Amino acid sequence: MTEVVRDAATLRAALDASRAAGAHIGLVPTMGALHEGHLSLMHAAREHGAEQLVASIFVNPLQFGEGEDFERYPRTLDTDLEACRKAGIEWVYAPEARAMYPAGFQTHVEVGELTRTLEGRYRPGHFRGVTTVVAKLFQAAQPCTAVFGRKDFQQWRVLERMATDLDMPVRVVGCPIVREEDGLALSSRNRYLDEAQRRRALGLHRGLSAACVAYDAGERDAETLRASASAEVETCFDRVDYVEIRDAETLQPLRGEVADGSAVLLAAAHLGDTRLIDNVWLGVDRLS
Ligand code: AMP
Repeated sequence: MTEVVRDAATLRAALDASRAAGAHIGLVPTMGALHEGHLSLMHAAREHGAEQLVASIFVNPLQFGEGEDFERYPRTLDTDLEACRKAGIEWVYAPEARAMYPAGFQTHVEVGELTRTLEGRYRPGHFRGVTTVVAKLFQAAQPCTAVFGRKDFQQWRVLERMATDLDMPVRVVGCPIVREEDGLALSSRNRYLDEAQRRRALGLHRGLSAACVAYDAGERDAETLRASASAEVETCFDRVDYVEIRDAETLQPLRGEVADGSAVLLAAAHLGDTRLIDNVWLGVDRLS
């Protein structure tokens, strides 16, 4: 049975008995428009021991900047609920914006340096919106484990940082990217792409794959790896925000020789009005 809950107090109260009985509570935060990527996180939460699993569905206005796609972001609650029922999720937490941010709301959670680079540079305020809403979701569900996708690699690292810095008693888990058969990373935003853009979007995967092939052949020079990814992305996309190689833990820039398993290549680029992101953790992720 999947129960739908609309406010934090009700969710907390509903989970009190399970918590008191020592049940492992898992949380998978999403913005809905659920796809196999989201479902893989729910599956992973179970594998990490979740007995009572909460999926949150909330298109968080705080994490969208001006001119971004908040208005047109897909809202498909009925099909999402059906998917959660099928997946055997115990709780769906789907608050309205006014329940999440009632009149008078004025408290935010902000992680420092880690949020000022990459996505943070191109989406000012984005991570402040993410950390604020996830902190609230943690308060509402009080999970033992919260599961996130490495599709949003930086977001995962930022949320780990937040949980550590604020002594939040939750294990933050990051899971591999789920892709279409041809390699495109699943994303709720893929539905914005027309046919021609959908084909060009594969440039991201091709670029990251080229770097993987080079890495597997023994290439370890950071700039050479970065450049082998960026060529395809530059060719296929209308505008490229970044193709960067960073330390997979700290997200600091890497130069010279990279140590095994220490580097992640991250990219963000635009096709028309659609902005896509993707990444590969070299030596850890398999792209083919
Ligand atoms: P979203 O609904 O886009 O905010 O994403 C909710 C969660 O699903 C985040 O932790 C994302 O990183 C994760 N996610 C989105 N797409 C994928 C994917 N293709 N593979 C794995 N996780 C994903």
